[in-house]
Amino acid sequence: MGTMEGLEVTECERCPALVDCRSRIVSGVGPADADLLFVGEAPGQNEDEQGEPFVGRSGSVLDEQLRERGVERADVRITNCVRCRPPENRDPTGEELENCREYLDAEVERVDPDVVVTLGKVPSEHLLDRDVAVTKEAGSVETVDLGGERRDVLVCVHPAATLYDRSQADTFANALDTAATMAGVESDAGQSQLGDF
Ligand code: SF4
Repeated sequence: MGTMEGLEVTECERCPALVDCRSRIVSGVGPADADLLFVGEAPGQNEDEQGEPFVGRSGSVLDEQLRERGVERADVRITNCVRCRPPENRDPTGEELENCREYLDAEVERVDPDVVVTLGKVPSEHLLDRDVAVTKEAGSVETVDLGGERRDVLVCVHPAATLYDRSQADTFANALDTAATMAGVESDAGQSQLGDF
């Protein structure tokens, strides 16, 4: 059985294949009262090594796009659907997603963000509980049951997609504009508009 101290999962062995692969459990980072919560799929190699979601190149894209909107990484919360690295970077299974859902729900409930942004297909489909054509639907908002209440979920492409396809960069940027607007940030601001954003 897993244990969660505050927002951090400190002990959990629910997913045997991931327990074998991981170096550590990678919990979410960022303020416990952030207005904006990003949800990715799972830790990759860099995240597993550093113990933080969205580091490496994907993290740099996210950080840069946030900064262009006057928001620092430290002002938002970033987490994943599953907190342990899958072997060979495969997608988490349905069972693994369900195993870890309790922690994600607890995190969403505690943070209580204005908007939850799903970064890529796996988190989008997991939270919306349906098939999602991410590129086509990026920037759209759906209200779903999540973390104990009805919440707005904004679909977004994965930041890594922007590294290989410029059109995805525009899609990503437009979705972040929507997220910034929903969280009350001026997109052309030179610095963070919200102390606890
Ligand atoms: S992915 Fe989540 S549920 Fe599975 S072992 Fe890691 S912390 Fe536990």
